[in-house]
Amino acid sequence: MAATAIPIDTLPSINPATGQVLAHIEKTPPEMVARTVTLARAAQREWATVPIRERCRRLRKLRECLMASRHEIADTVVAESGKPRVEALFADVFVALDSAEYWSKNVRAALRPERVPHHNIAAKAKSGHLVYEPLGVIGIISSWNYPLAIPMSQIIPAVAAGNAVICKTSDFTPRCGTLLEKLFRDAAFPRDLVAVIQGGAEVGQALIEALPDKVLFTGSGTTGRRVAEACGRNLIPTILELGGKDAMIVLDDADLRTASSAAVWGSYTNCGQVCLSVERLFVEQAVSQRFVELCVEKTRKLRLGPGSDPATDVGPLIRPEHVRRMSDLIDDAVSRGAQVLSGGHPRPDIGPNFFEPTVVADVHSSMRLFQEETFGPVLAIQTVKDAEEAIRRANDSPFALAASVWTADSKKGQALARRLRAGAVMVNDVISFFGIAEAPHGGCGASGWGRTHGRAGLLELVQMKYIDADRLPRREKPWWYRYGGELERAADAFLQFEFSRGVGAKLRNARNALKTLFRDHRL
Ligand code: NAD
Repeated sequence: MAATAIPIDTLPSINPATGQVLAHIEKTPPEMVARTVTLARAAQREWATVPIRERCRRLRKLRECLMASRHEIADTVVAESGKPRVEALFADVFVALDSAEYWSKNVRAALRPERVPHHNIAAKAKSGHLVYEPLGVIGIISSWNYPLAIPMSQIIPAVAAGNAVICKTSDFTPRCGTLLEKLFRDAAFPRDLVAVIQGGAEVGQALIEALPDKVLFTGSGTTGRRVAEACGRNLIPTILELGGKDAMIVLDDADLRTASSAAVWGSYTNCGQVCLSVERLFVEQAVSQRFVELCVEKTRKLRLGPGSDPATDVGPLIRPEHVRRMSDLIDDAVSRGAQVLSGGHPRPDIGPNFFEPTVVADVHSSMRLFQEETFGPVLAIQTVKDAEEAIRRANDSPFALAASVWTADSKKGQALARRLRAGAVMVNDVISFFGIAEAPHGGCGASGWGRTHGRAGLLELVQMKYIDADRLPRREKPWWYRYGGELERAADAFLQFEFSRGVGAKLRNARNALKTLFRDHRL
């Protein structure tokens, strides 16, 4: 009987600046995903035996390949995500290069076995240590907004730790996915160790059903819930990097020129399509008017256009439905009393997905603009009486990804940072910690769970194993059989010796306590 060919479907690669279809990329048939995972599993077993020095050598080769192809990569990122080319270089290419550089130098030390000293006398005869072993196959499901930086900064530590990776890149950025897989091939990573699968929800679900050892998901809360449910059914642990609604708090002693530039950049970079965007700005009353004026003045100077034009500051949104959503959010805010001070409209004259960078003042908590992740070029400002009110309002959100505080008083900024509910808080900067390889990234609540980046992110990708070696291998343990009244009394003396306060109690019980250690009680 002739084998039935699996029909090959394709994904369009669309330029959001023009709506033009640039290419068609083969979709991975969902029924092929399990086989990709099986092949990755076999490759991983070999890879785990490769000395870590050699894994680091491949990471350095990967960095060289990235560097050599940075212009092709930047052009592809711009063509599929729409962002200005300078952002593709600063954010996507830089983060990927730096991740390869950092882990090639630091993964060995970060995963070095650690001694575990024991505080209790009952465990003094044992020597303990921790070792870190690869988990196996990591499934990565990724978003489109940083189509290189996000998957690369997750894949690199995963393979550095000895895992294989199957990465489902976003169906909005399929050419970036193809380039990403090629980078690992060019850097001579073992065949099948890093595979990219292409497609939408059905391919993502097929990846989960193929039972990887962990799933690292980056995307919206709605999809995150679906992913968590499917993983939960299969007892697959997850990291969920979901949406944000980050607060920026501007105190009255802040340098308003710098803070307003940060607010404008933090709200519009990548056309606001950043999980760490400034989504809610709280400014103290005393400086509110001047600060808002500066934001409006700077917003009006921004040039909207295709990311491929070096003069462009703000590119397009990703798809037409995102443009419609911006208009809906602005309409809702205006109907509830907000004021649009600049922008506020789609710009079909430039292209199908352009929306003006928009400053909205008098935003409050009843508005969708305050409650939902905007994920677009809107700077939403609320004036507050003081820092206390700013903190209270900032924490009034189910999201808890990141935040920033702006002040001339660094100590005060750091004290306020500790009171904000967020996975990261920057004092006098926004967003950039994502590009610091040592800094952990992730949130809680509606922003997800777990961490990527930094050692905390690396430890999510390994099995932590505790190894305990007994120094008195010929001695039976006091807590083993046989039991009896004498052992019970000795056990109580031991508790009093260990946990009573005062030297007297310890001395009184020392002799009986020692009986537990030295009794001859073999069965
Ligand atoms: P999305 O949830 O639409 O898609 C994310 C990925 O999930 C895509 O690859 C998509 O194909 C896949 N997917 C969709 N349905 C699926 C299903 N049922 N099962 C498995 N996979 C499925 O998100 P998006 O539009 O790509 O990205 C935007 C969102 O991502 C925003 O909310 C943004 O804040 C968030 N994000 C978070 C971070 C972070 O680090 N916290 C970073 C970037 C983006």
